[in-house]
Amino acid sequence: DGGGMDAEGGRKDFSTAILERKKAPNRLLVDDGEGDVVPDYSTVALSPAAMEELGVYEGDLVMLRGKRRRETVCYALPDESCPEGRVRVSRGVRGNLRVKLGDVVTVNRRVAAPNGTRVQVTPFEDSVAGISGDLFEAYLKPYFSNYLRPLCRGDCFMVRGNMLAVEFKVVATEPADCVLVAPDTAIFCADEPVKREDEERLDGPGYDDVGGVRKQLAQIRELVELPLRHPKLFQTLGVKPPKGILLYGPPGTGKTLLGRAIASESGAHFVVVNGPEIMSKMAGESEANLRRVFEDAERLAPSIIFMDEIDAIAPNRDKTHGEVERRVVSQLLTLMDGLRPRTQVVVIGATNRPNSLDPALRRFGRFDRELDIGVPDDIGRLEILRIHSKDMPLADDVDLERIGKDTHGFVGADLAALCSEAAFQLIREKMDVIDVEDETIDVDVLNSLRVCNDHLKHAMEV
Ligand code: ADP
Repeated sequence: DGGGMDAEGGRKDFSTAILERKKAPNRLLVDDGEGDVVPDYSTVALSPAAMEELGVYEGDLVMLRGKRRRETVCYALPDESCPEGRVRVSRGVRGNLRVKLGDVVTVNRRVAAPNGTRVQVTPFEDSVAGISGDLFEAYLKPYFSNYLRPLCRGDCFMVRGNMLAVEFKVVATEPADCVLVAPDTAIFCADEPVKREDEERLDGPGYDDVGGVRKQLAQIRELVELPLRHPKLFQTLGVKPPKGILLYGPPGTGKTLLGRAIASESGAHFVVVNGPEIMSKMAGESEANLRRVFEDAERLAPSIIFMDEIDAIAPNRDKTHGEVERRVVSQLLTLMDGLRPRTQVVVIGATNRPNSLDPALRRFGRFDRELDIGVPDDIGRLEILRIHSKDMPLADDVDLERIGKDTHGFVGADLAALCSEAAFQLIREKMDVIDVEDETIDVDVLNSLRVCNDHLKHAMEV
């Protein structure tokens, strides 16, 4: 507890210093793209308050600056649900800005971008592997036909077609680095796809961020990713991919993480529905909300709808007396039954209590697959520890295997917390050599930092 420091030692309290640097009104924290407004590659959602402060009106172009001097231009959209001090941008734009959720972006009003005379784009090799045909007609023309999309050199953007999504990189733009693609803009699409550079990888968790669930991951990829990416395969064979999958297991075992990883790895839109949250809405609204979630998912397909604590939404109707619950269960059934096999939407339900679900939900054609995401064993815990310590310099005395064995009963979330607590413990110890007033930290100090066995031991006891 460092809180008492300043009172006794007269030292300044720096616990909130990190927040202060961000007070400039145009430095905003990056939030998820999910809210009342769902931004895409060409839009950014801002709270009405932030828009007013920045002097930005709906539909104005704003310039966003992220990390590594990355800049992009988007249209501003007001979003009542956007918390103060935040911007909502899509995952793709986050990738372009090289930022993750919670990072800071600078938002500047931008008066205009010139209409492009010429833009050149090229598809990513991995997104067009195995396909041929006219990308311009199939993807680019429709993508640019709706409105004047801003495009900046170096940006990537993903275009979803019926069958699959193709990701392009903007190689050149004329007459400026950021232009609007107008009807008379000449769009050139290179025939030679480009290889993806490491930094262009989309953010969001990947499969290698999920540990201890190898078998389940393989199953879920087969059930979800394959149909989302290659619907044709299933159509040709005349089999229907599952509409719903139930993941059950205690909290913190990585069910949500798994869903997110599948979505980001397969380029699907991901929306989380929190069971208790949706039920706490006023009477009638729960059903409407649920309908909206399904509508959006179909519109933005391929999509994964993740229903966390689905038992709150769909409890066994025989055992509940609540009128609202009954209605919501039937609404959910109707929506699931209404999903056409061709709409690439998969619903993943997560629960700790599979038996408290309404049995109708677990019938064929609904949540007809179930995967047990249990508490990890020794090996699973070791895998998870490796994941969460992969960016940490570990001292030679650290034996992750030992720690994996000693943490019986820990779930993924506990192990993640363990790793960050160990790092914090190290930082606390090093406060004497870190000058908090300095803008930078000496590289020698940084290089000397090692998380030791003691830090991890300490963290296990917290
Ligand atoms: P659940 O949805 O089962 O309650 P979450 O996916 O929300 O669990 O887990 C919370 C966090 O704990 C994750 O974001 C991740 O940091 C960590 N975590 C949980 N399970 C795992 C796992 N199997 N592998 C790696 N990290 C995990």
